[in-house]
Amino acid sequence: MEVGASGRQLRESHVASAMGEVRRHMPHWAFIGLGSNLGDRKANYFEAIERVQKLPTTRIIKQSSLYESEPLGDAKTWFVNAVIEIETESSADDLLKRLKAIETAMGRKRVRGKRWGSRIIDLDILFFDNEIISKRTLKVPHPELQNRKFVLAPLCELAPQMIHPKLGVSASELLAGLKSTKKIHLLRAS
Ligand code: AMP
Repeated sequence: MEVGASGRQLRESHVASAMGEVRRHMPHWAFIGLGSNLGDRKANYFEAIERVQKLPTTRIIKQSSLYESEPLGDAKTWFVNAVIEIETESSADDLLKRLKAIETAMGRKRVRGKRWGSRIIDLDILFFDNEIISKRTLKVPHPELQNRKFVLAPLCELAPQMIHPKLGVSASELLAGLKSTKKIHLLRAS
């Protein structure tokens, strides 16, 4: 079965209940962007992956290569970035809560008024199904993804044909049209 214009396959599994009826069980899919520029950046990435893998009713489907990218704003150290695709039964709000809890558990401190500071780990929801969410606490697709090569390059490894539900163009078209001068290079191929 296809989901919207993206043509992504919805993964379905059929679970036979005790009553013998077949229940349709459809997890959500999501892409998550990861970044770290404090401490052992690669180790932070691997720890975050392990923690995501352990979230209830969640599994990692694909992982991109690791990239190193020039920081935005005040940060000095280059970031290690990657994108993963997951399947989850959590709602988008619940997933955000769980990702923020991982950031906190890994020691991330939020500095008031400082948006682009250094961070042990940053976990952003890039896409959640084909949903468009515009809450104060959660915006999906992530509002900056089309401006960030460190998101689009790893995303294009996993899902180049993925159609941005708001902009109506594919991830590879977004990457090809990107004007950013920020540098990025491959650190570790997947
Ligand atoms: P950040 O500094 O990148 O961790 O983002 C700070 C805040 O952005 C979080 O506390 C979230 O409530 C909010 N936010 C809004 N949309 C998203 C999203 N798609 N993924 C992650 N955080 C988001």
